[in-house]
Amino acid sequence: MFDTLSDRLGSVFDKLRGRGALKEQDVRDAMREVRIALLEADVALPVVRRFIDEVTEQAVGQSVLKSVTPGQQVVKIVNDALVEMLGGAETPGLDLAATPPVVIMMVGLQGSGKTTSTAKLAKLLKEKQGKKVMMASLDVNRPAAQEQLRVLGEQVDVATLPIIAGQAPVDIATRALQSAKLQAVDVLLLDTAGRLHVDQALMDEMRAVASISVPKETLLVVDSLTGQDAVNVAQSFAGQVDLTGVILTRMDGDARGGAALSMRAVTGKPIKFAGTGEKLDALEVFQPSRVAGRILGMGDIVSIVEKAAQAIEQEEAERMAERMAKGQFDLNDLRTQLRQMQSMGGLGALAGMMPGMKKAKAAMAQSGMDDRVLLRMDAIIGSMTPKERARPELLNAKRKIRIANGSGTQVQDVNKLLKMHQEMERAMKQIKKMGGLKGLGALFG
Ligand code: GDP
Repeated sequence: MFDTLSDRLGSVFDKLRGRGALKEQDVRDAMREVRIALLEADVALPVVRRFIDEVTEQAVGQSVLKSVTPGQQVVKIVNDALVEMLGGAETPGLDLAATPPVVIMMVGLQGSGKTTSTAKLAKLLKEKQGKKVMMASLDVNRPAAQEQLRVLGEQVDVATLPIIAGQAPVDIATRALQSAKLQAVDVLLLDTAGRLHVDQALMDEMRAVASISVPKETLLVVDSLTGQDAVNVAQSFAGQVDLTGVILTRMDGDARGGAALSMRAVTGKPIKFAGTGEKLDALEVFQPSRVAGRILGMGDIVSIVEKAAQAIEQEEAERMAERMAKGQFDLNDLRTQLRQMQSMGGLGALAGMMPGMKKAKAAMAQSGMDDRVLLRMDAIIGSMTPKERARPELLNAKRKIRIANGSGTQVQDVNKLLKMHQEMERAMKQIKKMGGLKGLGALFG
């Protein structure tokens, strides 16, 4: 799976990871190669562009973590961007919360692996989720399609709706629903007809079946080996019916990965399962982070960088706690706090984090502050010299004008920030008087 792409990316990063330092040009050179690798893997051009832009921006602007090389950090950035491209960190499951029988409608072109995937999914739901499952083939066009599903049903030990020759798809669906209700089936899988091309008759039939069976999930089965065509097919279907997800088949033979990597970004539909072989247990829940891991084959590096980033946060928190215990709180500390606030969800998340924040927050609310203010305050502190940050009392009128100009703000903004800092510094001293951190409770009580 993804062998070609994986090899290409591997050789790009092998070059980067050993280096002690990375220049912007190194990153740009590497990204040029990644771009070629992705295009060769048949990933859609706009998706490649966005990916390269985002990764370059982050890789060039990253702050360097201790104990990992910049090259390793770039691997982590690429990994995260790949996960995002494949659909994000969370695994989109099936939504089966409804009164049974819950209907899953399977749609797709002929030969995509739809019937096989229906049986695979039935097996998975039965064995992994303990569901009582029934399958029904609505494919009256392809000779022996209904018989094929019946045989597969026997193989996975899942009931199929008895075949009545000459019945129309909508009538079969109605009969399947009745039968599923009678037999207290949890999940009913409807295998709709496949066609050679996306055509209107197929779409109309599919919608008619959907309107009487009200599927909770409508899964499109597409063949990953068809690359961008698979993505185009998905877009046509998505325009006609309310698709809830995609099953990408023949991933076992897909060395390039273009369909998998473009699907989410182009169609907005999550890939929910991957077919990985002809056998009936060869269906995997599609997990973007695992797939990204397979593509890059550098899981060890990704976890090293994650740990290093956590360690830095930990050190930072410990350093703050120590300073707070001593009653120290300069503008550097304020800046650290501001940044934490931004990363933790802005002003709303504030009250619980800082001593004295009840007062400061009230003051902020009074002056009509919102989260943009956090960024402005950060810019103001950024325009100060290190000395000024450590000793705010140095800030006379002249320095304040310089800082306001430097940060694109007004002197009164600088004054507001200093007032806020004073409030917090006072609170910090109070804590110290009350016996250090143990006294904190009193302040919040
Ligand atoms: P349908 O016309 O869409 O219903 O396609 P079928 O379900 O009949 O599948 C066509 C062929 O593709 C069969 O020989 C399947 O065994 C094969 N197939 C389906 N899914 C996969 C897969 O994930 N990997 C591989 N290698 N073969 C698959």
